[in-house]
Amino acid sequence: MVKQNQPELSLLIPCYNEAENLERLFSSLQLVLKSLELDYEIVCINDGSKDNTLKFLIDYHYLDNRIKVINLSRNFGKEIAMSAGLDYTTGKAVIPIDADLQDPPELIIDLITKWREGYDMVYAVRKSRQGESWLKKKTADYFYSFIGKISTIPIPANTGDYRLLDEKVVKALRQLPEKNRFMKGLFSWVGYRQTAIYFERLPRYGGKSSFNYWKLWNFALDGITSFSSIPLKVWSYFGLFISVISLFYGLFLMLKTLIFGIDLPGYASTIVAILFLGGIQLITLGVIGEYIARIYEEVKGRPLYLIRETYGFDDR
Ligand code: UDP
Ligand code: MG
Repeated sequence: MVKQNQPELSLLIPCYNEAENLERLFSSLQLVLKSLELDYEIVCINDGSKDNTLKFLIDYHYLDNRIKVINLSRNFGKEIAMSAGLDYTTGKAVIPIDADLQDPPELIIDLITKWREGYDMVYAVRKSRQGESWLKKKTADYFYSFIGKISTIPIPANTGDYRLLDEKVVKALRQLPEKNRFMKGLFSWVGYRQTAIYFERLPRYGGKSSFNYWKLWNFALDGITSFSSIPLKVWSYFGLFISVISLFYGLFLMLKTLIFGIDLPGYASTIVAILFLGGIQLITLGVIGEYIARIYEEVKGRPLYLIRETYGFDDR
């Protein structure tokens, strides 16, 4: 792909039912971008929104052709929407940013400053999260510390998708073929020279978050299964542990029987042992199932996303 007028910066905005935020979003983005005085494009991905998001995006595109729109064929989820966007951005640096103004646009200036110092990826770490429930913050903390411990590569805590990616990183990300796209992990996986900046995460400007706890739980499972095989492996150690204990317990019972004869009570301990081990076996099967289901998703080899139409990519 030869880029004659390669913009310096591409913003990448996944949008799912964000109609009420777009006006505020574009006006604050344009303010910041104006002050930066660089050539830019804004790539918006409409991820199967059910409200007027697409219509508004198209209107904005016709007002300003630096705003480009990709309309996916249905809702694919944020991770895939971002991957789709990354396939289309042309900038020397790309910044994915949420449409709900939770990622303050002013931070783009700091991201660019660090990038110009020579970093390939600058990620924005949340010092605090405003307007989110205690439970959401707590579960997020536990998730980040858990995945931090078991992942094969370090994934920075309290870091979302708001970050700057150099062109090199974007090219690397495009090469990753997996269908299960836990982007926070993939961003770390590619490596390169990375650094952090810190910010206060704001509450949503308008609308509701589309991530309920069930979605977040599955998101967490996606992250864990794509970046660690420890959940698959612990069971052999656990099994070994139980077997060793059973061996000694067996020897003890044998000696006891030889010395003191047979006594019958033991119903409670038998039922507890059966139920406990049955439960453990079902859990291990479930864990294996989680991995197999993901292997199945991968081998089906379906395309990651489908595009209904695009606006502003006529040169492609
Ligand atoms: N999003 C998306 N597809 C989805 C869900 C969300 O493209 O299926 C976008 C959404 O429009 C927003 C960003 O991803 O720009 C973050 O979503 P949200 O604010 O709901 O998540 P939260 O900030 O609560 O983690
Ligand atoms: Mg949000």
